[in-house]
Amino acid sequence: MRIVLVGPPGAGKGTQAAYLAKNLDIPHISTGDLFRANISQGTALGVEAQSYMKAGQLVPDSVTIGMAQDRMEQSDAVNGFLLDGFPRNLAQAEALDEILKEGGVQLDAVLDLEVPEDEVVKRIAGRRICRNDSSHVFHAIYNAPAAEGVCDVCGGELYQREDDSEETVRKRLEVYHTETEPIIDYYRAQGLVVTISALGKVDEVTAKAMDALKK
Ligand code: AMP
Repeated sequence: MRIVLVGPPGAGKGTQAAYLAKNLDIPHISTGDLFRANISQGTALGVEAQSYMKAGQLVPDSVTIGMAQDRMEQSDAVNGFLLDGFPRNLAQAEALDEILKEGGVQLDAVLDLEVPEDEVVKRIAGRRICRNDSSHVFHAIYNAPAAEGVCDVCGGELYQREDDSEETVRKRLEVYHTETEPIIDYYRAQGLVVTISALGKVDEVTAKAMDALKK
């Protein structure tokens, strides 16, 4: 299956993507994670991406599309993938269409995670992520780890993303509304969009998402 996951920052895309990719046996491709890996390795791409990410802006398409395409062309992705955070604007959606067309394949679904804006801000402000694995996500209040700052799953260090500050979150939400939301209509016109509420427990949302994807 080839799936695109969309939703505002804090909708739980990363968390859901990890579970869904495992259930569907396809790789989870997160452009945000690819950028963060480049930043921690100090690559030229990471250096370029960092200032945009810190400001809550989109990294330019000239950098992002090639990086996403390289990842989609790796051997583990031949039978499908779950894209998390890509495409994030219309130009990227059109580029993805071209990449898929060249490969003679198509998207199966675009899963749209809906969550109210006040919930987004609450979720992100308390979000803590494991340095070893970005799918190990906690919340300082709603899903606190047993020991502060330590991942319950693997013992890794928990940290707050640099772009999770309130000011940057507001910018990211604005960018989501102006740049990313239009892709939902773009895909709706292709009959690909399934929308589910991202409120509720993680496993309940995963179950709803799996049901929606089966249909
Ligand atoms: P995420 O981990 O998906 O929340 O992404 C974190 C940040 O990485 C975003 O706020 C952007 O600055 C950058 N980013 C991730 N994916 C993309 C993309 N498809 N296009 C442009 N910038 C992106």
